[in-house]
Amino acid sequence: MTAVHVPGTPMIDDGRLVSTNPATGAEAGRLPVASPADVEATVVQARAASEWWAGLGVAARRERLLRWRSRLASRVEELAELVHVEGGKPVAESVVEVVTAVEHLDWAARNAKRVLGPRRVRSRLMLAEFSAHLEYQPYGVVGVIGPWNYPVFTPIGSIAYALAAGNAVVLKPSEYTPAVGQWLVDSFAEVVNEEPVFAAVHGLGDVGAALCRSGVDKLAFTGSTATGRKVMAACAESLTPVLIEAGGKDAMIVDTDADLDAAASAAVWGGLTNAGQTCIGIERVYAVEGIFDSFVDRVVQRAGRLTVGADGTDIGPITMPSQLEVIRRHIDDALAHGGRAVLGGADAVQPPYVRPTVLVDVPEDSAAIREETFGPTLTINRVRDVDEAVARTNALRYGLGGSVFGRRRAMAVARRMRSGMASVNSALTFAGMSTLPFGGVGDSGFGRIHGADGLREFARPKAITRRRARSLLPVTTFDRTDADIARLVKIVKRFYGR
Ligand code: NDP
Repeated sequence: MTAVHVPGTPMIDDGRLVSTNPATGAEAGRLPVASPADVEATVVQARAASEWWAGLGVAARRERLLRWRSRLASRVEELAELVHVEGGKPVAESVVEVVTAVEHLDWAARNAKRVLGPRRVRSRLMLAEFSAHLEYQPYGVVGVIGPWNYPVFTPIGSIAYALAAGNAVVLKPSEYTPAVGQWLVDSFAEVVNEEPVFAAVHGLGDVGAALCRSGVDKLAFTGSTATGRKVMAACAESLTPVLIEAGGKDAMIVDTDADLDAAASAAVWGGLTNAGQTCIGIERVYAVEGIFDSFVDRVVQRAGRLTVGADGTDIGPITMPSQLEVIRRHIDDALAHGGRAVLGGADAVQPPYVRPTVLVDVPEDSAAIREETFGPTLTINRVRDVDEAVARTNALRYGLGGSVFGRRRAMAVARRMRSGMASVNSALTFAGMSTLPFGGVGDSGFGRIHGADGLREFARPKAITRRRARSLLPVTTFDRTDADIARLVKIVKRFYGR
């Protein structure tokens, strides 16, 4: 019996990984599958390249990275079209994704010297005869494993910052989006062609696993929490440090003094952009009693206007066909346990599409509230006040981003969310702010990409002390005397003892 190929599901054909469009089934990419030996050889080559790249110095790297940025910016439509063709994402959404990646590349290139470069730090009284020097040195080779839902923005969050910090990078793109990953590598090679500073290895999950065991000096993983655990376990064997950007179940809290039109617009976009296949997408909304009904009306009006289809629409196909069953299960489970569909609902899943669905009064213990749905669905639940909203928001082990709409209490509520990021009176905006770190807590992972923390994530702090004068109180030597120790005791009591 021959297996029927489901459009969008990647295939291996004669040693090639073939990606296909989820709406049409048309072939989008065909790339050689890497064997474990290929992965190892790529890392060995990248290690040699990393020495050359680090040796170039920060100014030369900056100049080349900015040239790569210019290439991406000038070919934004071409890359966005490829993202659309391979993953099904609407072209407009793909353009926004590429532009956000360009912004991060620009910031990382421009700020690497300031954030990572050598600097003097203050000496303390106890060691005043030494000067203190700090700098951040590259790891060497960074392995990057990426997901399919933002195949440009997400890996660039690691790649750009790792390269700017002076590392070489080996990327394992998702099996659903290898052509986009290869496009990034090829466009970089047009600017930096001396050494394979940035390379890709293609294949299924086993190639990602091989990358974890290939001797890379750090592994940056973005994907599901379940795979993140496997990546961490594999990297633990060699004590390879990891960065885990995993899933989320982000909430929006709408307070009584919120601008309801703005909140509804942000909930619909934040929840349904990229057909809801967004790690930081809004999946749950908690709206305070009093504004609940008017807020829900506004959300339904807006979400009901969205168009669904393959081209030129607001909502594209679900990229990973197997996710359709997860979305269907979450909707059915919510409805079976007392939730109500005020838009879409039981028949919303029409492969490869899912019609926008808004569910209200969904039990907090249902799958639609507790698990990542990754579809164009929103749950909206009524809460007494923002305290109850915060308690429900924080009840899950996920803690990636979040959003708050309101005036007086909004900043305080954003701080109380157990998450790595939050947006006040907008949704998802922290992702585009290249000056801010991006990452989660709990089941959403740890470590940070973006911003100064994102640069430091890909470098090792190197601390150096340098003698600048003779020691007046030489106690870290066997030449010390009892009198030196007595003076040390006197000093510690005088300065720290009170
Ligand atoms: P997966 O966890 O299924 O896959 C992520 C990557 O890991 C893919 O490249 C995959 O390869 C690879 N992989 C699979 N098995 C292994 C293994 N054993 N060892 C090493 N690598 C492996 O996630 P998805 O691609 O489905 O992405 C969606 C998930 O990513 C969602 O949970 C989403 O929330 C999360 N995400 C998180 C973000 C964040 O910044 N926190 C951003 C974007 C998405 P292959 O595709 O070949 O199986």
